[in-house]
Amino acid sequence: MGISQMIKKHNVTIATIVNNIDWVITRAREIDLDNELFLARELDIIMKHFKKLYSFAGVSSNNMFWNLTQNPIRVIHIPISEGRYSTIVNPKVLKLEGKYFNSIEACGSVPENNYMVKRKPYVSISGYTLEKKYLELEYGSKDFDGGEEPVLSSYYYNEWVVQHEMDHLDGITVKDKGTLFDLNSLMG
Ligand SMILES: [Zn+2]
Repeated sequence: MGISQMIKKHNVTIATIVNNIDWVITRAREIDLDNELFLARELDIIMKHFKKLYSFAGVSSNNMFWNLTQNPIRVIHIPISEGRYSTIVNPKVLKLEGKYFNSIEACGSVPENNYMVKRKPYVSISGYTLEKKYLELEYGSKDFDGGEEPVLSSYYYNEWVVQHEMDHLDGITVKDKGTLFDLNSLMG
């Protein structure tokens, strides 16, 4: 099945707090790795498509409304190393360490605005690949001290993206966790 047929069949749209608030704020459920990996594989194709289309930094199941499952499932599409992305199933945060920095983020599910969100400079997660292989990933350094200044999203990219997508799976957006930030305040 081609991507456009799949999108039509599953009625896929970007879930926003305007159009799909219930979907966005629902805690995503874990999937059964023995019987439900097909769901993650379909979502993987859809996530890659929308990531490319809108240049998303990462994608979570909560960002993609569809009619294939009743609730979002615990699946994220995130950077795994320089320029490479992977889809992780049933991810869990293992460690969050270091001094908070003020990360400036936008979100496909929260249209228009930017937010300043507290993020940690070191994060590690565990999860499974689409082939059911267990893995652990770590990002950043607990020694990084970003101070109080706003840190633009092009910096510490992987670190904030992973935390941002993990938050989504718990139904939490930058609007819940952060404060509205005007990018124009950085100019002049
Ligand atoms: Zn988001």
